[in-house]
Amino acid sequence: MLRKTDKRYSRFRFDAGSVSLNFVATVRHRGSHPRDLLPSPDSLSKWLELAGLVTTPISCSADDHREALILREAIHDTMHSLILNHEPAREDVDRINKAARFPIMVPQLSRSADRISWEAPDLEKAFLGIIARDAIALLGEGKRERLKLCGGDSCRMLYLDTSPGNRRRWCAMSLCGNRTKVAEHRRRRRDGGRREAEDEQSGQDS
Ligand SMILES: [Zn+2]
Repeated sequence: MLRKTDKRYSRFRFDAGSVSLNFVATVRHRGSHPRDLLPSPDSLSKWLELAGLVTTPISCSADDHREALILREAIHDTMHSLILNHEPAREDVDRINKAARFPIMVPQLSRSADRISWEAPDLEKAFLGIIARDAIALLGEGKRERLKLCGGDSCRMLYLDTSPGNRRRWCAMSLCGNRTKVAEHRRRRRDGGRREAEDEQSGQDS
């Protein structure tokens, strides 16, 4: 039984295929016992840094943090609904659209025209804007059929399948793929063993 304290699930994933999916993946194990890796404004600041969205750390307020998590779950729920062929909740779509309207960073030249700085009226909102725009691009640009839900029962991570045949079943072969294959193998062996025992039994009966 995997527990919440399992170290393997305390790490950020940056292999979901795009920035909005990586953001959604900051909740691990959505299929069983979800573990939120962004429990505080500081953890959000850290994520933004590790995701490569900022080069110097920014500090997020409690309000920023709350807003980020609301957007994260709106993106998750919308994509999850679409993968299951359900209509997404209108308020979630509205939230994504609202965040996509946040002014994102623009390049500004220094007076001597030898340096560029990136500026936005509100840095944290600018990042939410980038994440929301990325989610919209995934949903609206014909990539929807490549959005997948990991087949690992306890994982259920959303990812973008970039394989040529679009037949990937797991977030990562080295994680859920191997774990599922081992479980399937054990089940087959157990069922096979049971069938053999049943055959033996019916052989004796006849
Ligand atoms: Zn997985």
